Amino acid sequence: MQLKDYYKILGVERKATKEEIKKAYRRLAKEWHPDVNPDPKAEEKFKEINEAYYVLSDDEKRAEYDRLLQTGDEKAYKDFMEYIQDFLESIWKGIRRSPKPKRGQDIKLKLELDLEEAFLGCEKIVEYERWIDCPTCGAKGYLGELEKEICRACEGTGRRVSGIFNFPRPCSVCKGKGYIVKNPCPTCGGTGRVAKHSAVKVKIPQRIDEGEVLKVAGMGHHGERGGEPGDLYLRIYLKEHPIFKKVGKDLYVEKLISFPLAVLGGTTKIKTLGGEELEVFIQPGTECGSTKTIPGLGFSENGNLIITFRIEIPKNPSKKLKKLLLEMTKELKQDGVEKLL
Ligand SMILES: [Zn+2]
Ligand SMILES: [Zn+2]
Repeated sequence: MQLKDYYKILGVERKATKEEIKKAYRRLAKEWHPDVNPDPKAEEKFKEINEAYYVLSDDEKRAEYDRLLQTGDEKAYKDFMEYIQDFLESIWKGIRRSPKPKRGQDIKLKLELDLEEAFLGCEKIVEYERWIDCPTCGAKGYLGELEKEICRACEGTGRRVSGIFNFPRPCSVCKGKGYIVKNPCPTCGGTGRVAKHSAVKVKIPQRIDEGEVLKVAGMGHHGERGGEPGDLYLRIYLKEHPIFKKVGKDLYVEKLISFPLAVLGGTTKIKTLGGEELEVFIQPGTECGSTKTIPGLGFSENGNLIITFRIEIPKNPSKKLKKLLLEMTKELKQDGVEKLL
């Protein structure tokens, strides 16, 4: 394994000061930045320059490296290279100019439905904001020809040394590009994307339950550099219903029946959640609060409809009804009847 001469790579002497090393690094990194230098070897060279600077700018690593230069110990050199491997990989990631298109991000939204809508299925228009390619610049971020200006913050290297480890990180001002666009698109401000109010028609299947997620392919954010768009995900929430209460796969409903019907039995009608009329048989002697379970008429196909009967109390009884009730009370021989009479 041949020892790389980091001093030669940076073009400095072995006894160069930290300041000299820094200066040399900045000059070379600017010159060989792959975004500025069209030479096909620029990327490789830029990586080497960063590697050299990473080692020589750190006192401890530099001392270790100097010792290796003197001894030429190949095994120790191998260990040393392994030790800085993580960093070398991070430079690759940092300078790879993401030539690949990037898929747009998914969008996750909450979709609230009325209980009937969820039960019967429906069509919903969902409105939301998403990022799309800027129509003014066609997602390029600038108009006409690209005009660049070297980034002053990193002096065109695309990296800035920061933190306690003296670690060169992508420059936050130019996002690691090493240059600033001089003619950014006025519509998107150079980002290549704009927020757009979007609307999509979604078909809601029958009996969709709370917590289920519907996917609308391709309706997420647009991708970058022509990448495919992300998807839209709609998580279902069910609103409270004024009449029906959904508990799991079952539906609960209350039904008011008259006192005579409760006593004598008979039939009454109720409206199901689906809007159909249902004839319900009332057992003679039905108690207030008693229930009747009808299988198959719940929210799910295997759920139940559970009807709770309540006895209706007339609030403003007519004269005739009063008379009848008094008759009835006498017949029932209840306490207090004398007082009433
Ligand atoms: Zn910069
Ligand atoms: Zn634009």
